[in-house]
Amino acid sequence: MKRAKRTKSILKRLLLGSCCVLMLILTFFLINHIGKLSNTKAYANAGSVDTAVQAWQEMMVTDVPQKVPTQTPPQPEQPVQKAEFSKKYEHLGEAEEVLAYADGTAYGLRYPVYEDADCSNVVRAAAEELLAAQLKELSGFADEECKLVIDYEDGTAGELLSVLFRIEKEINGVAQPERKQWIFNKKKGETVDADTLFADRAYSYIAGRVKEITEKDGGKITGEREAFSSYLLTADGAKFYYEADGKEQSITLPYAALHTYMSVTVNGNVVADGIRELDPEKPMIALTFDDGPHYINTQRLLKILEDNGARSTFFVLGDRSFFTDANKETLRMISKSGNEVASHTYSHKDLAALSIEDMIAEITKASDNIYALTGEYPTFVRPPYGSFNDDVKQNANSPLVTWNLDSEDWKSRDADTIVAHVLKEAGDGKIVLMHDIHTFSVDAAEILIPKLIERGYQIVTLRELFYYKGIELENGKVYHSAYN
Ligand code: ZN
Repeated sequence: MKRAKRTKSILKRLLLGSCCVLMLILTFFLINHIGKLSNTKAYANAGSVDTAVQAWQEMMVTDVPQKVPTQTPPQPEQPVQKAEFSKKYEHLGEAEEVLAYADGTAYGLRYPVYEDADCSNVVRAAAEELLAAQLKELSGFADEECKLVIDYEDGTAGELLSVLFRIEKEINGVAQPERKQWIFNKKKGETVDADTLFADRAYSYIAGRVKEITEKDGGKITGEREAFSSYLLTADGAKFYYEADGKEQSITLPYAALHTYMSVTVNGNVVADGIRELDPEKPMIALTFDDGPHYINTQRLLKILEDNGARSTFFVLGDRSFFTDANKETLRMISKSGNEVASHTYSHKDLAALSIEDMIAEITKASDNIYALTGEYPTFVRPPYGSFNDDVKQNANSPLVTWNLDSEDWKSRDADTIVAHVLKEAGDGKIVLMHDIHTFSVDAAEILIPKLIERGYQIVTLRELFYYKGIELENGKVYHSAYN
């Protein structure tokens, strides 16, 4: 019992001693920290937040032992920034990508790869040339931070391949975008001069269309070539880019509206639509009617054509189309009926006898009038009296179509004589000249059309004739028949 009491008392002492030691350690720890905290408070009271922060940091530094790095991380050999491609541009097929550095500039180059190896080689060369020129330009900013990404959009229109390079440049964080178009004729295997593909006068037309569509931007669009810095040829039409309201905008115009302004024909012209399904093995003949529209005779002729499942080409006059409301309506009827509207110029002057300026005005004024009424540009130009010279050919911006079978309606002025003459001379691929302003010509057509059909002919528009006979149309070239 005594022994037990003694043991108890020793245990009590030991416990008390341990408590004292623990208290001492705790007190020491607290004094140490309160000292530092009051230091911090003093700095803060002195009004300097910075120094207070510094004090905290010093404290933390002494409290937390710093990790000493065992190894120095490798220093980057290249600039930290990197070029990247965006996803905003659509590509027709495969693309090749290069991401690299040159003289401190991070750059990216993306260009198309096509199945046709020749085509791919040429476009790659164009892309590399563009890159070299851009890097050379940026080397002038050696002390600045530069970034360069060349991407592209592409499209095809007939035999033309169109690539629009998108140059996204950044110098010291300031974006300096540029666009550069490149056109290639796949069939001929040659590059097309993209800067002259559209005639200068095309740009006032394009500006007019932009004005129509976006009234508010109209005032800012000048119609000069510079206002439309670039374009892309797509299956639907030419897409022109311009700036308005500080943003990039675009307008796509169909080739049917543009072909008279283009130095290269697209899709053998505008034959993509408006062509009926016909029998290529059966003979075809194109009846063409000049000098209209005439609100009585032309409208009567349209009915005859429709009743016979036939179609024709009407070479109308720009001024006559506007003579009366009935004439305006007649022109619209030709266009809507699936027949073809072509140009016989504005006022039937001998183009070869005019100054170049007047001659061009005769052609463009007619096109503009026809467009204003039908929403479509004429497909062909037939010079009055079949009269043309080299200047006319060079400036028509359209294929020129004459004839190889003159009905001589103007000479005989008699329906039966006209019918007999045409039936005697008729042949596959022929282009027949007639005039829908005369009653006797329409009388003749009424007899002639069923008779030609009886003999196996398909009565077609010029578009259809050239399309089915595989004729490649070129602006400035003269066509007398499907076989010339
Ligand atoms: Zn005429």
